[in-house]
Formats: sequence, structure tokens, C-alpha cells
Amino acid sequence: MKRLTELTFDNRYARLGDAFSTEVLPEPIAEPRLVVASTAAMKLLDLDPHEAENEVFAELFSGHKLWNEAEPRAMVYSGHQFGSYNPRLGDGRGLLLGEVVNDAGEYWDLHLKGAGQTPYSRMGDGRAVLRSSIREFLASEHLHALGIPSSRALCVTASSTPVWREKQESAAMLLRLAPSHVRFGHFEYFYYTQQHEQLKQLGEHVLSCHFPDCLQQDEPYLAMFREVVERNAELIAHWQAYGFCHGVMNSDNMSILGITFDYGPYAFLDDFDAKHICNHSDDSGRYSFSNQVPIAQWNLAALGQALTPLVEVDSLRETLGLFLPLYQAHYLDLMRRRLGWLGADEGDEALIQRLLQVMQSGAVDYTNFFRELGDSAPQQALARLRDDFTDLAGFDTWAADYRARSALDGDDQEQRRTRMHAANPKYILRNYLAQQAIEAAEQGDYGPVRELHAVLSQPFAEQPGQERYAQRPPDWGKHLEISCSS
Ligand code: AMP
Ligand code: MG
Repeated sequence: MKRLTELTFDNRYARLGDAFSTEVLPEPIAEPRLVVASTAAMKLLDLDPHEAENEVFAELFSGHKLWNEAEPRAMVYSGHQFGSYNPRLGDGRGLLLGEVVNDAGEYWDLHLKGAGQTPYSRMGDGRAVLRSSIREFLASEHLHALGIPSSRALCVTASSTPVWREKQESAAMLLRLAPSHVRFGHFEYFYYTQQHEQLKQLGEHVLSCHFPDCLQQDEPYLAMFREVVERNAELIAHWQAYGFCHGVMNSDNMSILGITFDYGPYAFLDDFDAKHICNHSDDSGRYSFSNQVPIAQWNLAALGQALTPLVEVDSLRETLGLFLPLYQAHYLDLMRRRLGWLGADEGDEALIQRLLQVMQSGAVDYTNFFRELGDSAPQQALARLRDDFTDLAGFDTWAADYRARSALDGDDQEQRRTRMHAANPKYILRNYLAQQAIEAAEQGDYGPVRELHAVLSQPFAEQPGQERYAQRPPDWGKHLEISCSS
């Protein structure tokens, strides 16, 4: 276990030079206080969990202190936002402080979000508000606990520094961890500015640091693209299976590692709704829940376009064609597990589609449905769940077919419950829960955020006494308007 001051840095991205990032020092926020820390994330850096109580902790993660070996830099990237190309984005309010190497030799980017203005801030103030920092913190650690690939979050610090959004709020900082912060948009930037030498250099960096196996292939850049396609197919399958809506799937928010990245107005579905739009600013529904699959493919095509100076276009196109079948296979696999099925049966896919159709017309809580379906034997569970459906005829035929399909797996309910509970969380990060914790934190009470974080870190466990966190949203919690503003 290490003290904070004992971290080892090896800043590989910084060494790529000024074409890739710009040196910028963090601008501290006033009177920093630690809101919440993740001991699980601290472990990734081999940090002693007690270090969170050390006063240097909040100072380091609010821009007041810096490790000698840190080399804070703002990365340059561009990307497609809501379908239109934006030539210059970049870290407008976040800094890559450096890369920490843990005892196992793993690299973790330390990225401080809300660290002040940079050459890429455009009109922005370089800050992040407490509300959005808490939302990203909770989601990062929760998705990881659900088994959904994600960037991680070490801590949030709050401050008295005022920030203007729709109203006055206060500045906060989030310390984000990821093996890489390279986005699709990094490649797009070098492609569209015709810096093909740098494009190649970026590709070499990603290959050697993150996909070394691809270097053994005949065409390493094509192998890299294939890896990104495969990882994103798996990622989006998880989002769709667990009802996660990202909200801003711009190509600059897509990670080259295929992890959930740059959390904004995201939401987990409460009642199932394939058309759900979680981003209040997304008027056309471009990033609605069901659109996430074609949009991921669209973003991969944008990445493929940026790789055309390095790889033949026909090979890229062919590789892109793998996305949908890979996605479908992963999705089917995850949904089979959620429904408690062992093995594979020919009719599974159609049965899953029919379930979503009957759910769509009713008011069925997407998370609780699967959890409760595993609580008791199919017949009893289905009888209890029936009340939430409006298309009762549709539900009854589906339920009969579900029972017949489930009977193929034997009738050991104890085993069925165990495997279903391992695939179906009891606790999910509902927007109303985040909202309650945020409102308390805005009043200076960090207890609720810490407790919610603890509950959501073990989403599959029963956790007696915490059942209130598994409840469906109250009326006010169903209509929260979450915008891009952060
Ligand atoms: P996001 O919506 O957080 O993914 O950000 C999109 C782009 O806007 C990125 O280049 C961000 O760095 C930049 N950005 C967002 N908010 C701010 C802010 N308050 N100040 C400066 N840049 C910002
Ligand atoms: Mg972003």
C-alpha cells in the first residue's frame, strides 16, 4: 500500500509532444473539501485507503498541489457532435496530470476534470459543477461494479468557487482514471487537419501502449480498428441489456478502449421505453436509447474514415461490418443471462424481442422486472409481475412461452435464483437517487452521496436495510430534466 506521495509516473502521452497536447497548470478551486472517494479506485493505484483522510488528498485533487513528476497537459482532439464535424475541441476543462504505473505495471491516466481554462476552452470557464461531478463519479464506479466497461473515478472535491450555469452553482473537480483518454476524436483531429505523420504516431502510441497484440498482425492498424469495433460491440450490448442511456454519443465522447466515457445527462431506464431520450437538449432524439446501436456504428465509421490514410478503405469497411453481428451476439448472451436461461435455444431472440414489446406498452420497471423474475419460480414470479403490464393478452402468451423455455433448464429454483441475481442488479443508479444525493451535497451534507456510492458499489448484493434504494422513482423523479449543462 502506498502513500499519496509515493506514486510512480511515466508520462508517455506527454512525451508525444506539443502537436498532441499543451502544457497547462491546474487552476485551484477555493476551500477544497473532499466530497467522496472510491477506495476501489484507490486500489488501482495501490493507494492506502486511509490516504483519503489525509488533508493532502483534497489539495492534490483540487489543483492546489501537484506531484513533482506530474506533467499536466490538455489534449487536443476534435469530433462529430450531433452529426456535425467540430474541428477543434480538446480538453477545455480537464487536464491529463500524468500516467501512474502501479505495482502490477498497469498504467492509469490521472485526469482532473474542472481544472480551469486551457487553449481548448473556447467560450467555456474551464470548470465543472458539483452536480455533474457527483453524477460522473457515481456512474463510473457503479457501471464498473455492474460489469460494464467504464472509466473510473477516484474522488470529487467541492469548493466555494462560484460558477454560472443556468443559475449560480459551485465549482468541483473530479479525478478520473482510465488506461487511456484517447477518443475517436483524437484520430479525427489529425485526419481532418491532414497531419498524417502525427496520425500515424498516435496510432503507434495506441498500438504499443494499449493493443500490443495487434502489432503481431500483418496489418496492425487494421487489427487496431477491429479491436475497437469488437470492444464497442461488447460495450453497447451491455448498455442495451442493462438499460443505460449515455445521452451524448458524440465521437469525441467515444473511447478508443471501448469503455463508457464522458458522462453527461445519462440515465438508466426506470420504466422500459426503447425511445427514451435522457438528454433534455437532444431535440431530435439522435441519442435515444434504441438509437445507441446505429449511432455507435456511425461513430465507428467516423473513426474508420480518419484511419483511411493508414488502412485500405475496403478492409476498414469490411471490419466495420462486424459490428452489428458482434453486438447482437453479445446482447443475446447478456439477455439470456438476465432471463435465467442456460444454453441457447433457437427461439430466444424472438422471445426477448416480444418481452420488450409488451414492456413498452406498460409501466414496467426495467431493473426490478428482471430481479423479481428470479426471486421465485417462474409461475409465481410472473403472476406477481403481471400487474405492471397493460397488454395482458400479450404478456400472458409471452409468459407461457417463457415458462416453457425456462423449463428446458430444469426446475432447481435455488440455482435459478442464484444465477439470475448474479446477472440482475437489485440496485441501479436511478436519476432521482442521484438527485437526492446531489441536493444534500449542495447543502454541504456529503453523507447521502457516500452512502449511495457504497450501495451502488455492490449492485447485485441484497444489502438488508438499504431496500429504499431499490425503489421505483416517485412521480417527481420520473420527469427530471437533465441537460448537457455541466
Ligand atoms: P462535453 O460536453 O463535456 O463532452 O464537452 C464538449 C467540449 O466542450 C469539450 O471540448 C470540453 O472540454 C468542452 N467544455 C465543456 N464544458 C466546458 C467548460 N465549462 N469550459 C471549457 N470547456 C468546456
Ligand atoms: Mg466530452
